[in-house]
Amino acid sequence: MDKIQLKALAKINLGLDVLRRREDGYHEVKMIMQTISLCDELELRRRKQPGIQVRTNLHYLPTNENNLVYKAARLLMEEFQIKDGISIQLQKRIPVAAGMAGGSSDAAAVLWGMNQMYGFGLSRRDLMGRGVRLGADVPYCVLRGTALAEGIGEELTILPPMPKCYILLAKPGISVSTRFVYENLHANDLKAEQHPDVDAMIQAIKEKDLELLASRMGNVLELVTVPSHPVIGEIRTCMLEAGALGAMMSGSGPTVFGIFDTQAKARKAYHAMRAGWLAKQVYLTVPYNVRR
Ligand code: ATP
Repeated sequence: MDKIQLKALAKINLGLDVLRRREDGYHEVKMIMQTISLCDELELRRRKQPGIQVRTNLHYLPTNENNLVYKAARLLMEEFQIKDGISIQLQKRIPVAAGMAGGSSDAAAVLWGMNQMYGFGLSRRDLMGRGVRLGADVPYCVLRGTALAEGIGEELTILPPMPKCYILLAKPGISVSTRFVYENLHANDLKAEQHPDVDAMIQAIKEKDLELLASRMGNVLELVTVPSHPVIGEIRTCMLEAGALGAMMSGSGPTVFGIFDTQAKARKAYHAMRAGWLAKQVYLTVPYNVRR
């Protein structure tokens, strides 16, 4: 096989809790991850010239070793002593630095795609083990679907698929630093009632109860981002007023998503959000539940 085309799917967090800040500075989390259909597209090609060549449609993204796709390719090329080269064409659609694991999903796609193209014979579990060296979310992006993520995000438990629904995504034109959010959360000083009830969300998923799930969604990081970036709260309110069963920030933001039970309501909210000034990027998508 000389080339392979891949989709790297985005994720949202249906629930996100931070349990504590460890002494080494890492945060222990408890998150419900959900893959969605919004995706980047990649094409990997073997080439005679040695080295890794990365091309992307976004001029501001690095194409050197600072791009996660480069890191993923280098990891496997070193391990399997690949002497010829590889080119990676990356078409970004997932908003960048948006709390949707775009870079992690691209890296997972490269691991998966190279394993196919070169026939390394690595299992999904093998790929996940290598992925965690690139980032805590990469193993989940190899796995896909609905899952509970614990530890620093790499301890995964497969959950039943979330109920069918429509998901509206809206990213305001602001940047939120993940480091700023975690540092200002003061995770070890939170009161019990400030933590979302992730176990109740898991129960709602098991009961296939979309309404219950949406009503119990919570992201502890909103304690930091909503006061410092009011637009996040405004988008959330706007989605709820448009009929979303629940609306919440994904990851460390700033993207907000809303869960809708009918396509008609979701479409109406999509057009209203696009016509308004709160969000710069707006997408309508659905959960994606096929695992690798
Ligand atoms: P997460 O949900 O895991 O926090 P994110 O959505 O916040 O991810 P990404 O879009 O993955 O963040 O990227 C964050 C930073 O990583 C960007 O500022 C970018 O420069 C760098 N980066 C490196 N490789 C990539 C890539 N393939 N796609 C997007 N960003 C990348």
